[in-house]
Amino acid sequence: MDRIYTCPSCGKCYTRRHTPESYIGSNCFDCSFWLEKTDYPDYMKNHQVIIDGQHYLFHETDSFIKGFGGRRFKIQFFDGRNIETNNLWFQGEIPDQFRSMLPDNAVFLPVEEKSAAGGAHV
Ligand SMILES: [Zn+2]
Repeated sequence: MDRIYTCPSCGKCYTRRHTPESYIGSNCFDCSFWLEKTDYPDYMKNHQVIIDGQHYLFHETDSFIKGFGGRRFKIQFFDGRNIETNNLWFQGEIPDQFRSMLPDNAVFLPVEEKSAAGGAHV
């Protein structure tokens, strides 16, 4: 018989289908996924982008497969950092119960299209 856990974050009853490291305490897989993001080490925190309750991570290095197909993004962090990346990855919308632990930390800035006819987009 599978052990049934009750998730303290969302109240769901669940059995474990993933490796034990995928779970934080007795939280379910989904809540553990988000809880992990509330407690990132600094080098990960610096790559965490939260805009409108949506969670993204950017990579400084090029990878063979890029987030959003290599689309360029400009991001302005509330702490003053400005970054530009063509390797942004989307993790999903932050569930309500984690919003206060993962508040917005940035906004997207418009990216000028190169050689756009008729001047810059507004
Ligand atoms: Zn849960």
